Amino acid sequence: MTASPFRFNNTYARELQGFYAPAQPASVPAPNLLFFNQDLALELGLDPQVLNGPEGTAIFAGNQVPEGAEPLAQAYAGHQFGGFSPQLGDGRALLLGEITDPSGRHRDLMLKGSGRTPFSRGGDGKAAVGPMLREVLIGESMHALGIPTTRALAVAGTGEAVYRERRLPGAVLTRVAASHLRVGTFEFFAARGEINRVRQLADYAIARHDPDLAGTPDRYLALLRRVAQRQAALIAQWMNVGFIHGVMNTDNMTISGETIDYGPCAFMEAYDPRAVFSSIDQGGRYAYGNQPLIARWNLARLAETLLPLIAEGEDKEAAANAVARATEVIDAFPGWYATALLDGQRAKLGLQGGDDALDRALAENWLALLHEHRVDFTLGWRRLADAAGGDDAPLRSLFPHPEAPDAWLARWRSRLEGEKEQALDGMERPERMRRVNPVVIPRNHRVEEALAAASDQADLVPFQRLLSAIRRPYDETPDHAEYTEPARAEVTACYQTF
Ligand code: AMP
Ligand code: MG
Ligand code: MG
Repeated sequence: MTASPFRFNNTYARELQGFYAPAQPASVPAPNLLFFNQDLALELGLDPQVLNGPEGTAIFAGNQVPEGAEPLAQAYAGHQFGGFSPQLGDGRALLLGEITDPSGRHRDLMLKGSGRTPFSRGGDGKAAVGPMLREVLIGESMHALGIPTTRALAVAGTGEAVYRERRLPGAVLTRVAASHLRVGTFEFFAARGEINRVRQLADYAIARHDPDLAGTPDRYLALLRRVAQRQAALIAQWMNVGFIHGVMNTDNMTISGETIDYGPCAFMEAYDPRAVFSSIDQGGRYAYGNQPLIARWNLARLAETLLPLIAEGEDKEAAANAVARATEVIDAFPGWYATALLDGQRAKLGLQGGDDALDRALAENWLALLHEHRVDFTLGWRRLADAAGGDDAPLRSLFPHPEAPDAWLARWRSRLEGEKEQALDGMERPERMRRVNPVVIPRNHRVEEALAAASDQADLVPFQRLLSAIRRPYDETPDHAEYTEPARAEVTACYQTF
């Protein structure tokens, strides 16, 4: 037997017994590697030669459990569309094990679609090619946009059919994450009144994500604050690229601050705060504009699970005030979010610093303008960089009436005059703006086209071409031209992800 391609160090399996069910991946008839993430493999210190071949294929399909792996299904609960489900858990995923990358970062390797587990309930534990390649595309796009995310290391076709509304080719995704700890993981044990386990989980989370808090007296409150701050920064980044997660249930919100679970997600085209693409989200709970409110709501659910621990402090008065102190953190969330949002908006507007209220109003009026004229969000921002270079025509052409943005542009220009053109990094303003306003996002119609070709015709070329474009989101090159245009209005109007 050859040495394992992974050097596993499985802290979850070792330290959190009782928090999971050991399980084995199902064997599949005809594994074939549909996608392998060479860049990520190198970043993780893995050997692409070994993994991008027969051995990797067998591992990524679930047919071979690499030496040192201890596959397990994690227990978690979750609030789904506002209602509590006390028992969810990995119904079609297995944590294979954990590895440490060359820079010392600890990562989970998870198989998704690898068959039934003790948490599968009525489900088949399987996944289809389309949705797994979708996770690749959106995750790689988020990564290229500098947004914390889980990432796909590989997708293996299984040679077996899965049945959804119709017969589909099956696949297994291998996903890499800073961890798979979710708000829902805490809820699972809190709902059972297992305070010792919530404490054990919180200490584990601290060791993994906030080691500087380990052993400090107020660490559970501090953990809550850190998670809230990471989520504030994350959601602000989503909002500034027009990303709609689509299913922000508490089991899909991480403790690490990474985006997870690319199911019914989408990037917005015409700017509309009410935008929602998921057909299962009838009430628009997870609409674009609701995301910061939902994040806060989810964090309040996390806070509830931690309350008994926050109340444990040595200081009697502090203990009595646990609810007030946790509430203070939850109430601080909108402010952290607003600051992160404005930082991002300033960069996108070509500004460096200034009066918060004025700049916030400038950004809000800009968005109102995009909304009123249903301008494509991504191109609207991108063409602002051209305007910063003195050419307003590309921006004006996005509006039904070209003069529509003129009054706002005049205000923006007078604001720009107050600032030096060159940033500290020496870049001129238009160039600087083009580094924060992407031109290539995974547009919904392009994603669907690529997934349909892969799933229905086993043709991976459109997927690969789209993937290479979204990996360079700021480059406006001729080979990117076909990926920069929004869908025709009639296509967009009926687009649904799920
Ligand atoms: P998701 O909607 O992917 O966030 O999943 C919500 C819950 O449903 C999780 O507990 C999943 O493990 C479970 N689940 C989703 N799809 C399946 C499936 N095909 N088989 C078993 N469990 C599933
Ligand atoms: Mg999920
Ligand atoms: Mg999912």
